Amino acid sequence: MRVMKFGGTSVAGADRLRHVASLVGEAASAERVVVVVSALAGVTDALAAAFELAVEGKRYQDTWASLGERHRVELETLHGQSEEAAALDAILTQVEPCLAAVQAGAPAPPARDEVLAAGERLSLVLAGAALREAGLPVVLWDTRRLVRTDSHFGEARVRSGATAAALRAAWHATPTNAVVVATGFIGADRYGRTTTLGRGGSDYTASLMGASLAADRIEIWTDVDGVLSAPPALAVGGVPIPYLDYQEALEIARFGGKVLHPNTMTPAARHRIPIRVRNTFAPLASGTLVGPGEPHPTPAAKAVSAVEEAVLLGWEGEVPPRPLLRAAGAFPCPGPGPLPTMWVVPASSLARVMPLRPTQVRHGVTLVAVVGRGLEPLPPAAAVRAAVRAVRLPVLATVATGSPLSAAVVVPRGLRAEAVRVLHQRFVAAAAPTAATLYGR
Ligand code: ADP
Ligand code: ASP
Ligand code: MG
Repeated sequence: MRVMKFGGTSVAGADRLRHVASLVGEAASAERVVVVVSALAGVTDALAAAFELAVEGKRYQDTWASLGERHRVELETLHGQSEEAAALDAILTQVEPCLAAVQAGAPAPPARDEVLAAGERLSLVLAGAALREAGLPVVLWDTRRLVRTDSHFGEARVRSGATAAALRAAWHATPTNAVVVATGFIGADRYGRTTTLGRGGSDYTASLMGASLAADRIEIWTDVDGVLSAPPALAVGGVPIPYLDYQEALEIARFGGKVLHPNTMTPAARHRIPIRVRNTFAPLASGTLVGPGEPHPTPAAKAVSAVEEAVLLGWEGEVPPRPLLRAAGAFPCPGPGPLPTMWVVPASSLARVMPLRPTQVRHGVTLVAVVGRGLEPLPPAAAVRAAVRAVRLPVLATVATGSPLSAAVVVPRGLRAEAVRVLHQRFVAAAAPTAATLYGR
């Protein structure tokens, strides 16, 4: 059995959904398939924007109306049936009152997840229509019935035992000739309230499905040729990485490699299920295989990853307890720096750290990490710092990554591309170096 997850750009509209249907049809002729879909490209951001407008008491109606219109138009292009059009309308009609309630002062967190989840629910209807148009028998799973979580809205933790049991029961009740199409990203708590798994969480849903249903493989279909050795946005010559083990992939994800959600690796690793990252727009490219490990890892780093928007924090007096800072997504930076221990946090997590009252806040920094099992025998933090310094780039702090598979530094944001280029050149591209060449000896 195969799980195929398609991200937002892969399902951005009717044409792309037809292409997805052809990829799924091909797979389904060989084995049973579960398809996991994200919201259409840009929809989750648009829903979040509508929600913010509502919170501020402003007009969200225009954003909401154009979202509805976009989905209706795509469904028409797919020759959607009247029940499918009614399903779209039912979702829109059910969710809009949440925005109205928030605008009138209702508490935000549960309502925000309800609103964001609409993206995947609407996408499910369109994906079902596209597969049916292609002649495939489909069964649709709204995963709010199946993915059981706690009530941590915005980043809910999955209750894995209950979720696996629910998924297996649904799977056994599904005719073997049907293709299952399921929503990524969303679940529900014990009270049946809609929850979300964190931005980018559809990858995690795919992995949960794969682990629960004993899949032979999990495929993450996206818009790049696999996990690249450097963030493509920085254009420093990153190339697809043929093979990563689960921990290496996790480190790349932890340090800004958006292509896989960090939680994706855990369920797959537990059951040793291979994950292949593939390009929907170049399906012949071999992509990246993430799996249990190579017998002879190369003595080189695999990738340079970057949290482009980060913030350095310091406390003059007592530093808050480490678990609190870690839970907020911060990494300790034990020097050099004006204070004994600074912490660096992705800007997206800043709101969670500010209540801990840092006395120093430096915006405009980037966390750059070198990742790979090949780093393991080396004291990597010092090597990374030396490599950045060698080209006279200022290192603001060295990061304690907590893993032997990654080493990281903090640099001024304006120099991030330069820092990534230097580190990529020295640790990845100039590979496969021996430990001695890494140190220039
Ligand atoms: P999807 O919508 O398919 O889930 P995402 O936008 O979540 O896609 O993830 C894919 C994007 O991740 C790529 O388009 C790329 O911009 C970004 N990205 C960041 N770092 C990396 C990396 N190391 N390798 C590949 N893509 C990366
Ligand atoms: N649609 C959600 C998001 O944009 C989940 C995902 O794409 O994985 O964050
Ligand atoms: Mg994604």
